[in-house]
Amino acid sequence: MNDIILEQRIKSLKDLSGTHSPSIETIKNSINNIEIKVDACFLSNPYATDLFLRHLEDDLLKTGKLRDVLEFYPPQNRDIAKNLANVCKISEKNIFVGNGAIEIIQAVIHKFVKGRFAVTIPTFSSYYEFTTSRIEVVFYKLLKENKFEFKVDDYLKFIKDEKIESLTLINPNNPNGGFLSMDELLFILDNTKKLDLVIIDESFIHFAYEDDNLKLIESQLLINKYPNLIIVKSMSKDFGIAGIRAGYALMQEAMVSELLNNGFLWNSSGLAAYFFNLYGSNIFRDEYELIRKKYIMTTKEFFKDLESLTQLVVYPSKANFALVELPKDINSFSFMIKLLINHGIYVRDCSDKIGLDGNFLRIASRTFEENLLIVNSLKKVFDE
Ligand SMILES: *Cc1c(COP(=O)(O)O)cnc(C)c1O
Repeated sequence: MNDIILEQRIKSLKDLSGTHSPSIETIKNSINNIEIKVDACFLSNPYATDLFLRHLEDDLLKTGKLRDVLEFYPPQNRDIAKNLANVCKISEKNIFVGNGAIEIIQAVIHKFVKGRFAVTIPTFSSYYEFTTSRIEVVFYKLLKENKFEFKVDDYLKFIKDEKIESLTLINPNNPNGGFLSMDELLFILDNTKKLDLVIIDESFIHFAYEDDNLKLIESQLLINKYPNLIIVKSMSKDFGIAGIRAGYALMQEAMVSELLNNGFLWNSSGLAAYFFNLYGSNIFRDEYELIRKKYIMTTKEFFKDLESLTQLVVYPSKANFALVELPKDINSFSFMIKLLINHGIYVRDCSDKIGLDGNFLRIASRTFEENLLIVNSLKKVFDE
């Protein structure tokens, strides 16, 4: 297959995936001879996947317990929430478990959001795509001139001027990795108490840090203080387990009940239930802490290496990926294809992201070795 045909193939796979990118599996299944060495499109900690697999082998495969996990019904939503209650130090009644955070986002938007809903762009597309006729999405645009930095005062003025009723913020934000400190978050929460709903998506919070010790940022107790707050958390990225579909949200007890009375009784798989059980164990969480920090250090190195490429503008990120801008004359889709076909590196072309004007790629940090390969391949594509 020549490059142009391949390019068209991938373009049509992309069109079939909506505003998300086709997965590695999808690409491999429809393009036989493609060799993908590094998936830097999906945003996960590969060291955490290794850790999870090690436990899964010991606990489920070697013992033969996998059969039970697959043969029988998994625990129900409220049972899984009990495991999380210990970890989050919050009542299980405040926890809603989802088949991935995506399911929670859909449920929350459909059930609780109405009226003027502020969505910051660029963003994770589900937040505006899952809306209903009761919702009027109002975009708040992060500006390239400000390096996509979030300006709290300007945002709060927008909330007031636009008579916003509900809002969502992703922290750190996807796709740029911009981060709101705890002080900034508290300031926003204090000034949006009158809103119906404040949704904070913390799917990448384990990669962020405020001090040199890279201490885990914990905000779960805030739901006790702010009744309009919902915290959404995917486990896909930080634990590297998108395939098992695990996420949860923290919210008022009445909201959890309202969702559960409407379905979601058995929405988690046996493997997701196994994960949440594991997550409840102190031993696992201690092991994970080391790996989380190791990955942040690896990612910091990666960002430095990316910044050393003079052709790239790298935007500030406290997530595990960087939004980078290519020179004006380089088309981001073609560049992504070259990187994939000639070097086996898969990155996210952002040309379909609303609120991004220019040639942007989003590149995930992987293992130390994979990151070196990504940087070297980028150099080569620039030289080709
Ligand atoms: C990936 C992602 C999700 C969805 O996560 P799943 O748990 O895999 O469904 C939610 N929010 C943001 C911001 C994401 O990037």
